[in-house]
Amino acid sequence: MKLHELTIQEAHQLLEKKEISSEDLTRAVLERIKAVDGKVDAFVTVAEDLAVEQAKAADRRISAGQCEPLTGIPLGIKDLICTRNLRTTCASRILENFLPPYDAAVIKKLKDAGAVIVGKLNMDEFAMGSSTENSGLKITRNPWDLNRIPGGSSGGSAAAVASDMCLGALGSDTGGSIRQPASLCGVVGMKPTYGRVSRFGLVAFASSLDQIGPLAKNVSDCAYLLNTIAGYDTADSTSVPVEVPDYTASLNNGLKGLKIGIPEEYFVPNGLDGEVALSVNNAIETIEELGAERVELSLPHTEYAVAAYYVIAPSEASSNLARYDGVKYGFRNDADTDLIGMYRKTRSSGFGPEVQRRIIIGTYCLSAGYYDAYYVKASQVRTLIMQDFKTAFESCDVILCPVAPTPAFAIGEKIDDPLMMYLSDVFTLSANLAGIPGMSIPCGFSKEGLPIGLQLMAKHFNEEMLFKIAYNFEQVTDFHTKKPKL
Ligand code: GLN
Repeated sequence: MKLHELTIQEAHQLLEKKEISSEDLTRAVLERIKAVDGKVDAFVTVAEDLAVEQAKAADRRISAGQCEPLTGIPLGIKDLICTRNLRTTCASRILENFLPPYDAAVIKKLKDAGAVIVGKLNMDEFAMGSSTENSGLKITRNPWDLNRIPGGSSGGSAAAVASDMCLGALGSDTGGSIRQPASLCGVVGMKPTYGRVSRFGLVAFASSLDQIGPLAKNVSDCAYLLNTIAGYDTADSTSVPVEVPDYTASLNNGLKGLKIGIPEEYFVPNGLDGEVALSVNNAIETIEELGAERVELSLPHTEYAVAAYYVIAPSEASSNLARYDGVKYGFRNDADTDLIGMYRKTRSSGFGPEVQRRIIIGTYCLSAGYYDAYYVKASQVRTLIMQDFKTAFESCDVILCPVAPTPAFAIGEKIDDPLMMYLSDVFTLSANLAGIPGMSIPCGFSKEGLPIGLQLMAKHFNEEMLFKIAYNFEQVTDFHTKKPKL
């Protein structure tokens, strides 16, 4: 097997036995990037020298007998997670040359574990989008069909993992941005519970919804990544001081007697592609055959999720993005103008059209006279959605449903119709509004050979349940082993 094709767990075993070195592994991954990223365009920055340096340090560490699960493992990072002295652009012209003076909490944890960071991955600008077409820098392509989108906003992360350009990656998920690209690229992705992973050093989009999480080639790799990045952090007051279990410990436990909830609102014939419905239903049957028991249930406020999210997220974004004023840092455009003109020019030439649209919507929703009608109303709807889940989890342990209504769509297909693009998030937004963990795992392929994902959602801080069900499903299926031909 080629080194870049290894899973994290396989590579770890070989590193531990000293059958390979991290330097060999890292160089193989860098070669792979050179060979295929010209087609996929997943990376914004490849940190070649830095990666080799980190790999050599990992090898010294391993020689000294210290080989943790991520030691020496080459990973990619979504380009909105701050990496000290390594360019962090948020795929925006406004931060095109931003060198963070510090590492995000998750990066510090990865470095402490001896991981190797091979580069920064493309995304929709400031994570606003579902296709990576909103990147201010370039379009990433789906490795399964280069004419299609990889999903978004963590499209670079999903495409890089799917095409073996890194062994695992970090993304962020505000309304589906880990799960949806994972689903569309055929990899495993998890959005942890809000508060499970520190957001310190994650460039904020919508602070009450954002959460960092892993993308990986299989379920156990995903668990290793979450093991390393999870945990309370005094630098993020919204991270929660609850114990982090070893997510790999419960993988093997069987599914006998578990109750799987099937929400009727997620299986409506209009909007849900037939092939997606078929694969998801087959996956549910497989999980039933493994001993789980099916419970039909309702999440009655699902239909309001898109509207509530697209008020709350832009509102928070309009406030978070006020800092890009051409003064504090980043790009400035002050040609022939005064101070106010400089703000205007900087922001209208530094931000792309979707980010500007969100800032305008958010500013409107928060303005005096509209605040109660929009922001407060959306927040009330959010509470109803949370209550839906609370009630649902009284009768089941996990909820199973589709991740995205269709497989990957064509580049250009939805970009001129923001509403259509927003509707493609219909199945993922609710988990963010409720703060619960959600996961996407490969569960099938369309006739055209495009990957399809199954979504799993559980109660707050019950990521273990997702890992366990996902792992058991993975053991009896082979969707996760399929690779795109590049
Ligand atoms: N597609 C959603 C949006 O555009 C979610 C993005 C995300 O999760 N970062 O806001």
